[in-house]
Amino acid sequence: MNEHTIVPRAGILGDGFACACGSVLAGRMAAELHATENGLCTVCLGSGEEQVVPGLNRPCTACAGSGRRKEQITWQLAHAEAEHLITLSMVRAVVSGFDGPFHLSEIADTVRAGLDLPPGRLPVGPRVRDLLLELQATGEITMLSAPDELLGTDLVLYRDPRWQRARTLGL
Ligand SMILES: [Zn+2]
Ligand SMILES: [Zn+2]
Repeated sequence: MNEHTIVPRAGILGDGFACACGSVLAGRMAAELHATENGLCTVCLGSGEEQVVPGLNRPCTACAGSGRRKEQITWQLAHAEAEHLITLSMVRAVVSGFDGPFHLSEIADTVRAGLDLPPGRLPVGPRVRDLLLELQATGEITMLSAPDELLGTDLVLYRDPRWQRARTLGL
């Protein structure tokens, strides 16, 4: 259990935050500063969770659910490295090998294997997903899967979406 756990607190002076150590923090900036000083993730403020919509939490993506600043920084560097290492042309080349529909996980696994990366070393999945969405935006591939979960009216979760190359759709 961490001695510093920052939680939102509605106060007389508007919305603020309170820490388990007794500090009262006026506003998001003060809360993030207190988090930094105490080695907590500045996104989830040490809780290790983020709220997707009210009532649905998932592990904080910034710190991989650890709640710690150290992991947040490691993960930030890993994201930057993945961005540098995994390129659009690489993903396009992998996709060109699939005549039929393919899952995000298949492309991510192929890219990971091609780079000889152990699982969990870099955020390959999120990076590959971003690049597939780029290919989708330019019309090179089409998303086939229906959303796995609908959260409210405008937020949709895809666990492992499926795409197909536009040219192989026979249109
Ligand atoms: Zn504190
Ligand atoms: Zn976090």
